[in-house]
Amino acid sequence: MDFRYTQQEEAFRAKLHAWLEQTSAEVFGRGQAGSTSPLETGDDRRWQRLLEYHRRLYEAGYVALHWPKEYGGGGATLMEQAIYQDAVLSYGLPLYGANQLAIDRIGPTLFFMGTPAQKERYLHKMLAGEEIWCQGYSEPNAGSDLAGLQTRAVLDGDSFVVNGQKVWTSLAHRADMQVLLVRTDPQAPKHKGISYLLVDMKSPGITIRPLVQVTGEAGFNEVFYDNVQVPKENLVGEINQGWQVSIATLMYERVSGGTRHPVQRTITELLALSRQVNFAGVAAHQHPYVRQKLAQFAVEAECLRLSRYRSLTAQLKGRIPGPESSFGKLFATELNLRVAMFADELLGPYGTLEKGSLGAVESGRWITRTIAARGLTIAAGSSEIQHNIIGERVLKLPKG
Ligand SMILES: Cc1cc2nc3c(=O)[nH]c(=O)nc-3n(C[C@H](O)[C@H](O)[C@H](O)COP(=O)(O)OP(=O)(O)OC[C@H]3O[C@@H](n4cnc5c(N)ncnc54)[C@H](O)[C@@H]3O)c2cc1C
Repeated sequence: MDFRYTQQEEAFRAKLHAWLEQTSAEVFGRGQAGSTSPLETGDDRRWQRLLEYHRRLYEAGYVALHWPKEYGGGGATLMEQAIYQDAVLSYGLPLYGANQLAIDRIGPTLFFMGTPAQKERYLHKMLAGEEIWCQGYSEPNAGSDLAGLQTRAVLDGDSFVVNGQKVWTSLAHRADMQVLLVRTDPQAPKHKGISYLLVDMKSPGITIRPLVQVTGEAGFNEVFYDNVQVPKENLVGEINQGWQVSIATLMYERVSGGTRHPVQRTITELLALSRQVNFAGVAAHQHPYVRQKLAQFAVEAECLRLSRYRSLTAQLKGRIPGPESSFGKLFATELNLRVAMFADELLGPYGTLEKGSLGAVESGRWITRTIAARGLTIAAGSSEIQHNIIGERVLKLPKG
């Protein structure tokens, strides 16, 4: 691995940092951007800020560095993309503004699988944030076993007619468009009767019910479909071949849900917290137990960073990344959860006080983080499922 930047990369990095410093202060307030998750948007004011941040990201040309230029992206090198990710995460900002799902994974799925008309119709609006996207995959009885989904679509003339229900749909209440997995052939084996549709969220027959989480936020929703008409041209790929299309989207999701996580920043904030509070009668950061924990987290975060660079080095040398790319999601989200839970341990009973409560430390943000961190170990494939994948596909262990 070569850790040095070329002159151009260094210039790119410096310009980007200056832009992030100024923009995050102007949009979110200095030092306030931390952990601005595009999936926690129950609060209208925060959502408006995210949209404003997205607009600026787009105008500055940073919104989709990894997209090819022909689709309006930055056409950046792998190194520039890595520099961008490190920089944005160090500010606790979302990588793709308010349209994370679209820019991260739905757009790239359309480059490879969409028709020319679909690319023309949707890609630019994704970039500009003019159409926000959500992802309708999970159902009450189809999460880890996604291929068991039951939402039905029947082709009737020029439209599919959709009936059924999705659940845990992040951002559905903000979204203009959705990628929707539906069953189009109930007789076929379960992976072979699924199709992938692009659905206008304002279509008659769609009902969205926000799910209020224990944090008080309503980031996800139940979505019901009652005879919803979806034009035939909104099918991506072939009919009944939607599983292959959805796998392409999931591949992007697992990469993004994994190593590209601001755990390093959370550890820095934990360190700052340990300087403010007492633990077992002494300043927390001076207590040997706390120091051991902080050091352990720092070492693990560094291992994660180096694993990411190992994967990047392999790609820069034209090789396929090794097993490190498979454990990224599992390791990053579990580490993030342990860091948040340790903050709660430091805070003791004060850790349970939420925003607005008398005595709440740092506006109760650590308890909110712990709960959100638990969610990240479930979203995009739970930790148990990641263990299965590593055991079966990477280590090739025998099935029990
Ligand atoms: C923050 C967040 C955002 C989300 N956003 C979206 C979204 O935008 N769109 C969307 O479609 N979905 C979304 N989801 C849903 C998510 O994809 C599912 O929650 C996830 O796939 C798990 O499915 P499930 O909740 O049905 O749990 P289940 O699949 O019912 O699993 C229950 C438990 O059993 C375990 N388990 C299941 N199968 C196995 C197995 N084979 N081996 C070992 N253990 C197993 C699981 O690990 C889990 O602990 C989101 C979830 C979260 C938490």
